[in-house]
Amino acid sequence: MTIPGFCLPLQDIWDSTMGLCCRMFPCLADPARRSSLCLKIFLVMIHLIYACVLFLFDGELIEKTKKEPWYTVLYLLLFVATLVQYFVTSLSSPGYVLDAMRAVNERDAVYRKTSTTSKQPASSKYGNFVVTVDGSQLGDSLLGSNTTYWSKLVAQLYPPGTTIRTWTCTYCNVEQPPRAKHCHDCDKCVLQFDHHCVWLGTCIGQGNHCRFWWYICEETALCLWTGILFISYLKANISRAWWRDAIMITLLVILSMSLVFLLLLLLFHSFLILTNQTTYELVKRRRIFYLRGFPDRVYPFSKGVCRNLYNFCCARSSIYSMERLPTAQELEEKTMPYTCLDVVTCRCC
Ligand SMILES: [Zn+2]
Ligand SMILES: [Zn+2]
Repeated sequence: MTIPGFCLPLQDIWDSTMGLCCRMFPCLADPARRSSLCLKIFLVMIHLIYACVLFLFDGELIEKTKKEPWYTVLYLLLFVATLVQYFVTSLSSPGYVLDAMRAVNERDAVYRKTSTTSKQPASSKYGNFVVTVDGSQLGDSLLGSNTTYWSKLVAQLYPPGTTIRTWTCTYCNVEQPPRAKHCHDCDKCVLQFDHHCVWLGTCIGQGNHCRFWWYICEETALCLWTGILFISYLKANISRAWWRDAIMITLLVILSMSLVFLLLLLLFHSFLILTNQTTYELVKRRRIFYLRGFPDRVYPFSKGVCRNLYNFCCARSSIYSMERLPTAQELEEKTMPYTCLDVVTCRCC
């Protein structure tokens, strides 16, 4: 029921304000982006509330800051670094299949052109863009073929016998390399798809998984430090108003629950990194057609703990890395039980 003369003007004001906002910031016209922006504001507000309550209520912390400013400076540095890391991760590309496909095909077109005209090397035109497949750089042009270079490249990554229809995305109509998946929230295929993070408003994939790990690591450290400061305040024998304690205890309970969640998430993603898996591969292993045949304890893309860690930490964002499925011989080696000799030769590394 509407009240003439009251609700309608309010509705008009709301509509005109929203229209103005959408014109000034076109990204706000999309409801998904709007909710993502609201979540970002909420997250920043939560951080600010915790910091403000702490510095407003805790007189001892202020005294300590005057005596030992480095302690508070370090805490504030971690606070700022966590928020910066959050926005950097949120704005970074997870590595879209479409971008990789375009880059590969463009690179191939340049190779074709330079091989016929012999003008300048293709690498100078495309800067430091590189595509790697299991550590080897792609440089050969498939001259004379009707299919695109990308199609040929993706076909090489799957075992012989699988048809192109099984790895073509029905939404984007692009050939997905192994480990890629279509995200229905982003409406794009993502390389090494891990999950779509609602808090960050983006997918976590090959391009930003490392940044995501660092974000949850920094957030965990910040939660832990803030929790210690809250407990120190509550333990101090200073007479204070009961409502201050009530606020601090409520915030501490929420903080403790967040800390447990973050710690579990950090451990889980550390395990995934060490075994070169993604959340999607671990959870939906039986639904991924090329992983169904592998025994449960085998991590098909793992190259040993050290190599997995190196690839994860040192891979540049300009590199689209694609991994092929292990051959029958490699699979047999992976399923072999460990012996004393394997420990000496560091087989797992
Ligand atoms: Zn897709
Ligand atoms: Zn997504």
